[in-house]
This record gives sequence, C-alpha cells and structure tokens, in this order.
Amino acid sequence: MAYSLPPLPYDFAALAPVIDEQTMKLHHDKHHQAYVDNLNKAIDADSSLQGRELADLLAGASNLPKMVRNNGGGHWNHTFFWEAMTRPGSSEPQGELSDAITSKFGSIADFQDKFNAAGAGQFGSGWVWLVATEGGGLEITSTPNQDNPLMDVADVRGTPILGNDVWEHAYYLTYQNRRPEYLKAWWQVVDWNKASERLAAAGRQEAVVSL
Ligand code: MN
Repeated sequence: MAYSLPPLPYDFAALAPVIDEQTMKLHHDKHHQAYVDNLNKAIDADSSLQGRELADLLAGASNLPKMVRNNGGGHWNHTFFWEAMTRPGSSEPQGELSDAITSKFGSIADFQDKFNAAGAGQFGSGWVWLVATEGGGLEITSTPNQDNPLMDVADVRGTPILGNDVWEHAYYLTYQNRRPEYLKAWWQVVDWNKASERLAAAGRQEAVVSL
C-alpha cells in the first residue's frame, strides 16, 4: 500500500493572513506531494521497507536510505504540521499542556520566545519542535532538513507535540527573509486543542500521527 497525500483539514485560505493561500497551495499540493511521490519511489525499490508504519521506519533513520529518511520525514512532518494549525485566534493553551509548559518554561510567553529562538537559530532548512520526552518532560529542539524527533539521529528524541516548518517555502511569499516574524505570527494559527490531544496521546504511548 503506497503512501498518499492527505487533504488539508481546512481550506487553503483558512490560515490567512498568517499563512497566505498561495503558500498553502504550493506547500501542500507541490512540496508535500513531492515528498509522498519520492517516498513511494524509494520504498518501491526495497521490499523490506514496505507495509510499515512510517513512524517505525523513521525511528531507524540512521539505517534508512537517504531518500526514505528525507522524503519519509517530509511526509510525516507535513502531515503533523497541517493538523497542528487552525484558523487564526481560535484556540488557547489550556489544561495539562498549559500547566506543563508553564512549569517547565516559566510562562507561555517565555516558552514561545524560546521556541521562536530555536526556530530562528536553526541554520538553513529544518523544523522546530516541542517534544514530550520518554521521561514525560517537555523539551524544545530543532532538526535539520526533514529530520524529526522520532528519529534515532535526533539530538532530542521524543513525541512531537508542536512543530513549525522553518524551510523558506513555508513563509517566503509573505515574510521573505524575515523568519523571526513568521515564527512570531505562527502562534495565531496554532491549534492548542490538537497539541493537548497529542500530549495526552504521548502519555499513553500512542502515535500522534498514523501513516
Ligand atoms: Mn515544508
């Protein structure tokens, strides 16, 4: 069974003006589609990689062909990313997640500042993450290219709770080179309810994305 591109959970203009419609169209229909197509091509070439849950494949990233690591990471990360967002201003941090962030980082604003700094500091293309580690703690980390914290090559391993794409294709049409401005604006479209669900899933050792 080949991997396929999931539809966006909202329309292309839903995140505007934080993320413009044209960026969403290109990002989903062209970039994400290309990761899916190239992942399927790479998997076709190796039967030992077929029929596996993508997260399980990625956990062994150090032994994967580069094409599978890069495009499999691309498919997982983008699916996670679309589901992590919603219409601007429609949710707020609450409950257990809000408490856990506040106790670890001091306040939601302090957490956002640290997350933004990690995203701005990621050299070149990559991702910035809030991760629930195996011990249950929260950590901020960043990964290069399409790597993610599920991978055995990651500096900080764990279950992603939030993640932002800091590739230029994610923001260039609206923000040009101003990555910090994009990182700051992005919080308006974060789906905090989804993030809370993911923290709960991580606590139950369940997958936050199933592919
Ligand atoms: Mn992207």
